[in-house]
This record gives sequence, C-alpha cells and structure tokens, in this order.
Amino acid sequence: MFTLPSAGPHLLARLAQVKGWALTLFFGGGGLLALLAFVLPTHNAPDPVGGRVLFALTALLGLGMSLLALVRPAVLRGKRLDELLMVLGNVCSLTSTLGETLLFGSQYSAMVLLWPMVLATGFLRRRLLWWQVGLSSVCVLILAYAKTTVLTHSALWPLEALITAVPVAFTGLAVSFFRAAAVQEAEELARLVRTDPLTGLANRRALFDDFETVVARTPAGHRVGLVMLDLDHFKQVNDQYGHQIGDEVLQCFAQTLRGHARDGDLLVRVGGEEFVWVTAEAHADALLARVETARSAYSSLPEARAVTVSAGVAHGPGEITAGQLSELLNAADTALYRAKEEGRNRTHVFALR
Ligand code: GH3
Ligand code: MG
Ligand code: MG
Repeated sequence: MFTLPSAGPHLLARLAQVKGWALTLFFGGGGLLALLAFVLPTHNAPDPVGGRVLFALTALLGLGMSLLALVRPAVLRGKRLDELLMVLGNVCSLTSTLGETLLFGSQYSAMVLLWPMVLATGFLRRRLLWWQVGLSSVCVLILAYAKTTVLTHSALWPLEALITAVPVAFTGLAVSFFRAAAVQEAEELARLVRTDPLTGLANRRALFDDFETVVARTPAGHRVGLVMLDLDHFKQVNDQYGHQIGDEVLQCFAQTLRGHARDGDLLVRVGGEEFVWVTAEAHADALLARVETARSAYSSLPEARAVTVSAGVAHGPGEITAGQLSELLNAADTALYRAKEEGRNRTHVFALR
C-alpha cells in the first residue's frame, strides 16, 4: 500500500509569514514612533508645526501600511507592490527624521534611514537593491542638508552626507549578500531533499509533490500513465558481484530510463530497486510498447549484468486527476505483482476504467 509522506513545515510559506510581520513592524513601528512625537514636550524647536505635520504624515503612512500588511499579507507577498513599498518606506523614514529635526532640534532618529535599506535588501527583488542605494543616498543628503540649514549652519554637510551614506549602502550590500547565500543554500537543500542521491532521479517525496504538475501538463488526447519497474532477482547481483556493482547496475537502469523518457516525464526511485515512471500516452498499447523498448534496451547492456526488469503499467481512457496518484500506484503495483508471478522479465497492464 502506498501512503502520502507527511507534509513537513513549508520553509517558503514560513518566510513569507516572516516577511509580512517584518513589514508590519517596519511601518507600524514607524507610525507608533511618530504618534509618540505628539505627546513628547518640544525643546529648542525650530519649526514645531512643520515637524508635527511631517510626523503626522509618517504616522498616517505607517498606520495605513501596517493595516495593509495585516489585512492583505497575500497581496504584500506579491511582487507588484515591491516598488511601492520601497518608495513608501523611504518617504516614511525621511519624513519622521525630518520631523524630529524640526520638532526637537535633534537628529537622533537618523539611523531610521537604515530601515528601508535593510527591508529592501532582505525582502524585495534583488534588482531593486541599487534603486534603494540611490534612494538611501538621496534621503541621507536631504537629512544632512536639513541639519545644516536648521541646526548647525555648517558648510560641510555634503561631506557629512557622504560619510553617512557609505555605511548605509554597505549595510544594504552586506544584507543582500547574506540573503543571496541563504537563498542559494535553501534552494540546494530543497533540491537534495527531493533527489535520490545514488541515481539522481526524483525520490518518493518529489513524486507526491510533482505528480500534479505532470497531470497539469498532459497533452490533449493523452492520459497520464504510471509504470512501476522492479529489477528481477536483484539481490543476487549484490550477492554475486558485491554492493558496489549493484549500485552501478541501479545507476545504469536510471540512465536507461532517462534515455527513454520524454520531456515532462517524472522518473522516480521509490525504493531500493524499484522505480516509477509517470508519463502521458494516448493509449495503453503505446505506453506498453515504450516500456518494452526501455526494458529490452536495458537488459542488453553489458553494465546491466544480465539483470531483467519486470513492470506494471496503470493506464486508462478516463481523465486522471492529481488526487488519483495513490490509486495509480496501487494499480501499477498490482500489475507488477502479476508480472513477477507470471515469471518476471515481462510487463503486465492494469487497465483503468
Ligand atoms: P524480485 O525479483 O522478487 O524483485 O527479487 P529481488 O531480489 O530483486 O528483490 P528483493 O526485495 O528480495 O531484494 C532487493 C534487493 O535490493 C535487496 C537489497 O540488498 C538491494 N538493494 C536495495 N537498495 C540497494 C542499493 O541502494 N544498492 C544496492 N547495491 N542494493 C540495494
Ligand atoms: Mg526486485
Ligand atoms: Mg523490489
């Protein structure tokens, strides 16, 4: 009997959740800080009204965006909002820092300008990194200019802007580098988890994950068929030649299957010397012919060490749906059992209704 492997926690879904929370914290945190500015007493305020207006703007943006992040996390995960989020993030942090300059005559919150840089490099599309570096530099420049005009009247503000912009940009580049490394590692792990290490074919987990895709890609007039193949008396190969040669015989069989599969077919090593071939075909006879060609091609190879193959085919005229994988596996397994019983080195077809 074939059962579905238990579904593990989905890494990408969890990352998307983290992204949603990061956005909420980013905009919500900015909004709350801005609201706080209304209740704090002002000292040496160069322009308290202008400052409050900027803080109010930040608060509105922050609250609006965090509401959006909370209510529509799925929309925020979509790529189309990347540019909007980036621009709003920069506007939000710039208006809040400028608000502080005008309201309190200080610039302690200048480091808030780092937030959109980290947000963009951590979560948005990679090509936006350089846009964000540019936006960050412009924001730093405006802030340095505001400081000079409102507070210090120093002529050195371009130098100050440069000194601040360089670490901001480098922080973004560093975060982007670590993100790329982490994504690469995650992709490699995801590939390994779905691959059989000996043959390089898909493993059982990938069969259950990818069957739906094969079904969706079925050409018109064709039906998804499932072939279960088992090497005959394989144990004797190990006993006679050793495990190493046994492994090579398995690899050779996988290679033969690859040579006979079509684009979009799914080739799986489901167990020790047991394989599954999911492929679309118009009629059971045509599929049977392809299986016979692959079987005889393999058995005539010297690397096969005279090993023969038994196969069970499940195919039928009715439309196959993604939920029918277990049914197909059981049907092909029954057919394979018959092929073994009838003397091995043959294929039996289980005709589905
Ligand atoms: P049958 O014709 O009934 O299928 O007989 P069989 O000997 O092929 O089947 P059986 O299930 O009795 O033995 C399967 C053997 O496959 C036993 C096991 O040692 C061997 N095997 C399973 N995985 C591997 C592997 O990764 N490498 C090697 N070399 N042998 C393996
Ligand atoms: Mg066997
Ligand atoms: Mg077996």
